[in-house]
Amino acid sequence: MGTGLAAASLSTTGTPEQIGEWAPQMFGTPDDVKLAAFCASEPDAGSDVSAIRTRAVYDQAKDEWVINGVKTWATNGGIAHVHVVIASVEPELGSRGQASFIIPPNTPGLSQGQKFAKHGIRASHTAEVVLDDVRVPGSCLIGGKDRFDERIARAREGRRSKGQAAMKTFEATRPTVGAMAVGCARAAYEYARDYSTQREQFGRPIGDNQGVAFLLADMATRIDAARLLVWRAAWMARNGKDFTHAEGSMSKLYASETATYVTQNSLRILGGNGYTRDYPVERWHRDASIFTIFEGASEIQKLIIGRTITGLPIR
Ligand SMILES: Cc1cc2nc3c(=O)[nH]c(=O)nc-3n(C[C@H](O)[C@H](O)[C@H](O)COP(=O)(O)OP(=O)(O)OC[C@H]3O[C@@H](n4cnc5c(N)ncnc54)[C@H](O)[C@@H]3O)c2cc1C
Repeated sequence: MGTGLAAASLSTTGTPEQIGEWAPQMFGTPDDVKLAAFCASEPDAGSDVSAIRTRAVYDQAKDEWVINGVKTWATNGGIAHVHVVIASVEPELGSRGQASFIIPPNTPGLSQGQKFAKHGIRASHTAEVVLDDVRVPGSCLIGGKDRFDERIARAREGRRSKGQAAMKTFEATRPTVGAMAVGCARAAYEYARDYSTQREQFGRPIGDNQGVAFLLADMATRIDAARLLVWRAAWMARNGKDFTHAEGSMSKLYASETATYVTQNSLRILGGNGYTRDYPVERWHRDASIFTIFEGASEIQKLIIGRTITGLPIR
């Protein structure tokens, strides 16, 4: 999933040459698998990516970028072959002054900080990334310097631009998070559904009670609705359609809230068994929480949807 974010960042704003050079290195081959990491979040810049403090300064004499800062919560951070880092180049322009950079393998100055012990998705590596005078070639600015300079000029003149570096990446990857959430919800629902037909109390399967069957009906309906939202957004992204009604955010919001709802109720249907590590539902319940947090928490998705459908600068 960290690799997907980094690859999306490259493919949404990279030049054809950059995509050709770096995309294969982000994935490797079946015999030599590689990972990538996307580093936007910082200790003081989570939901508010415009607050990013990591700085990238251009050293014209050497045609190199010098990057300093601390990133946090990076999936595959520090263990990835290729890191993509969002940094501020023109801090006075806020998010419009940000750019994304490729950090090639084994670049001096990049190191892993704290690795986090997490509540769920524990097979995924999540860590801080420290950038201490990291120097990368000028060609590592994703999209190229000419295009970035044009964007900065537009921002200084107060003209509209096509969006900030981190936000463009998240837009493209939200349906993917939605798809993960649908999968997690489906696993828990199917387990609880089957369990409800086998577990007997009061002389009949627990699923024979409307109280349980209605819960399963709601779960199944929400999962199908979430899946259709994800399919629509994924189709739009694949076919280059803009999310004019925040369809990407809608899919991520609804699917992640559905995963939370469904795993919670699956655990309930399994009763005491659901609360133990002998059954898989408690793990899906822990895993589901992340979908409402990363790549924009649910509240942030609602802000985006609210702004899109009203045209108002809702805060
Ligand atoms: C396991 C994991 C993996 C991650 N992987 C990556 C990664 O690969 N790359 C990366 O860059 N980041 C990654 N993240 C970071 C993730 O994107 C952030 O955690 C997320 O954006 C939220 O930021 P925050 O944790 O600082 O919470 P905060 O921004 O502090 O938010 C805390 C709460 O306040 C709410 N809130 C904040 N602002 C508003 C508002 N304006 N209106 C209403 N509510 C608001 C939020 O919705 C949330 O409920 C990862 C995080 C985790 C936990």
